[in-house]
Amino acid sequence: MSDVIVVGAGLAGLCCARELATEGVDVQVVERSDAVGGRLRTDEVDGFLLDRGFQVLLTAYPEAQRALDYERLGLRPFYAGALVRHGGRFTRLADPLRHPFAAASGLPAGPGSVLDKLRVARLRRRLAGASLNEVLEAPQVTTAEALRLEGFSREMVDGFFRPYLGGIFLDPTLETSSRLFAYVFKLFAQGDAALPAAGMQAIPRQLAENLPEAAVRFSATVESLDRGGVTLAGGERLEAGTVVVAADGPEAARLTGAVEAPAARATTCVYFAAERSPLGEPILVLDGEGRGPVNDLCVPSDVAPSYAPPGAALISASILGIPSEDDDGVEAAVREQLRGWFGAQVDVWRRLAVYRIPFALPAQPPAVLATAQRPARLRAGLFVCGDHRDTASIQGAMVSGRRAAAAVRGIDSGPSCAL
Ligand SMILES: Cc1cc2nc3c(=O)[nH]c(=O)nc-3n(C[C@H](O)[C@H](O)[C@H](O)COP(=O)(O)OP(=O)(O)OC[C@H]3O[C@@H](n4cnc5c(N)ncnc54)[C@H](O)[C@@H]3O)c2cc1C
Repeated sequence: MSDVIVVGAGLAGLCCARELATEGVDVQVVERSDAVGGRLRTDEVDGFLLDRGFQVLLTAYPEAQRALDYERLGLRPFYAGALVRHGGRFTRLADPLRHPFAAASGLPAGPGSVLDKLRVARLRRRLAGASLNEVLEAPQVTTAEALRLEGFSREMVDGFFRPYLGGIFLDPTLETSSRLFAYVFKLFAQGDAALPAAGMQAIPRQLAENLPEAAVRFSATVESLDRGGVTLAGGERLEAGTVVVAADGPEAARLTGAVEAPAARATTCVYFAAERSPLGEPILVLDGEGRGPVNDLCVPSDVAPSYAPPGAALISASILGIPSEDDDGVEAAVREQLRGWFGAQVDVWRRLAVYRIPFALPAQPPAVLATAQRPARLRAGLFVCGDHRDTASIQGAMVSGRRAAAAVRGIDSGPSCAL
């Protein structure tokens, strides 16, 4: 018997449990898998750190700044900008404020015109002057429509924004709400995109450090819940006056019957080991030619050397969606595309893993995000949190966990929780 059972040890569940435990609440986290992290997991394979799908921490996330010790995570930043593959060559599109010379020299190069690049700088300046709350409360359209309204050319949208934002939202159609676009664009400009030295799972591991030893029970799937607690697969019953469902959106919908299951954004990540990096710098590469299958690529070991053993490089290639081919077929298609980018060196790369992630993010088109910051309390004794209740991101998951903890304690979560 606990005061509170939290279902799920992803970021939302951990943040919720941690807040409650700090206030002296007796909390039990029940997790289906064998470790903390949910969608933030890192596997170690032959000395390489493989995140289960490429992702980054934006250091400007307010809740991450509040809850995490960045120093101990050993965060390593990406270059503020990207290399865009367009017209058979790479063009560097740099952040105009942080790398003004590189940005200026990229002005005439494609994709997009000089005017497009100046529009990027204008948008960046405008968003810098708005608060995060203003950005998240602005009228919303789809991202594609917002880019059109900003005056960006089709070439700039297809050659830069589609692979860049599509890679963040896992949404090549850019139907994602313009609020999320502005939010992410602003945060990218305010801080770094970074990787922890020990892989992305270091983030939930750090959050779990503050929980009592036995607070998380692993390999325990909650099959159903009711007013007195939860029942695990296999029939065991755990009792608690309060249950917080911190599972992913579809599972939260199944368990509670009171929240809508979000549509899924899917991705596939292919990892290769190489003797040397094809890039030699910590930069993201975007497919501005729309040929695919790879949408974006990076060399995590150029960002954080601990991602690969000494004398080796780790290459991460991301595909939007789930390809129908088997892993060998996916590998062959990826190699063919990347041979066009980097030449014959690609042939000696060794495939390490293919991760297919059918539910990576909840889709957040305008109709869905209009109701973001959804209440944590569903009914007496039942609460819900997770990225599907907020912005679909590390930030959204973390802050929704804190909001749920505040709701359990019956207190107002305060204005800082509105981010
Ligand atoms: C490939 C990929 C790339 C991403 N890129 C980024 C990025 O670059 N930046 C960013 O900010 N965000 C990114 N995200 C999103 C971010 O990782 C998620 O928004 C966040 O991790 C979600 O956390 P959560 O706690 O809401 O859900 P989850 O991480 O899904 O946690 C839910 C937990 O509940 C457990 N669970 C589910 N059902 C049950 C049950 N019945 N019983 C017991 N336990 C259960 C699950 O095992 C899981 O551990 C990405 C996600 C993916 C997958």
